[in-house]
Amino acid sequence: MKVIDHIKQAKKTLFSFEILPPLKGKGIEAIYSSIDPLMEFNPSFINVTYHREEYKYKEVRDDLLQKVSIRRRPGTVGICAAIKYKYKIDAVPHLICGGFSKEETESALIDLQFLGIDNVLALRGDPIPGEKHFVPDRGGHAYASDLVRQISNLNKGIYMHEEIENESKSDFCVGVAGYPEKHFEAINIKTDLRYLKQKVEAGAEYIITQIFYDNTKYFEFVDQCRKSGILVPIIPGLKPLTKMSHIQFIPKTFNIDFPDELGNELDHCKSDEEVYKVGVKWSIQQAKELIDNKVPVVHFYTMGRSKAVREVAAAIF
Ligand code: FAD
Repeated sequence: MKVIDHIKQAKKTLFSFEILPPLKGKGIEAIYSSIDPLMEFNPSFINVTYHREEYKYKEVRDDLLQKVSIRRRPGTVGICAAIKYKYKIDAVPHLICGGFSKEETESALIDLQFLGIDNVLALRGDPIPGEKHFVPDRGGHAYASDLVRQISNLNKGIYMHEEIENESKSDFCVGVAGYPEKHFEAINIKTDLRYLKQKVEAGAEYIITQIFYDNTKYFEFVDQCRKSGILVPIIPGLKPLTKMSHIQFIPKTFNIDFPDELGNELDHCKSDEEVYKVGVKWSIQQAKELIDNKVPVVHFYTMGRSKAVREVAAAIF
């Protein structure tokens, strides 16, 4: 079932979460063990991130380094199929522009259609570590809006090099990313919203936000979207902080701020256990306020660890 239909049919705020494919070489059990503890909260859908290749320099001789491409977390499509058929829950694969030509994107979408997967979260992807700017692949998309357009075309039967008849058309529900604190490359929130609107006009039916810790920023973002004519559901994304390293890693990686009150509490933390306590308490507080304000879904980023999300979900669902 499509994410948008889950939202339309819901009588209360829904629960969903995102998982990462495990490191290459690990089995599907690693995925099941991060999903199982969250099943009792009836997730409406589970997102699976996509991780593109990274480059490494490998010594081939004393005086010669070779640039090689390595994928550490492959398996998004396979994991989605496993989730769909084991748990009978909708899986939402993330599909990115980076590293894909348009033909490769089309092949990935055809695989998803074969597997009966109805949803895709369409993203551009970040620059490869070490590169300053995002560089599309030869013949690939430069922006998520172009990817959304390709998926919308496929839904109309328009493939790269041919058109097909009605009964074989895909029917993907497409979601996109939104940034309450602005995407780090956007010159200002106004231009960011203009491009977000382009993604919706290209066919995106809902938005999932970047992680945030200040609900005011989410409420302001929703308000600005509505004033800009972006009327689709906007799903807030939350991530409980669980360790000391998150205090620097999360704001730096996701280009977000901690609100003063949370910052003050984190300042006093001296161990992972203390951060965990503050992080879970903060997420519960955030989720409760969001639910009181009738958000469509509360979406959690697990980053491969479900313990803290389980504690938060147990307090609110
Ligand atoms: P876009 O919407 O293409 O925007 C990128 C930037 O370009 C923005 O600054 C925007 O304002 C600007 N822009 C957009 N269109 C135009 C235009 N036509 N002309 C000029 N400027 C334009 N990354 C992964 O690699 N894998 C994942 O699984 C993944 N999952 C994510 C899930 C969520 C919910 C979120 C919020 C992010 C996720 N990301 C993931 C990270 C995401 O790929 C990065 O944030 C990336 O830098 C931007 O992706 P986007 O889809 O928002 O890009």
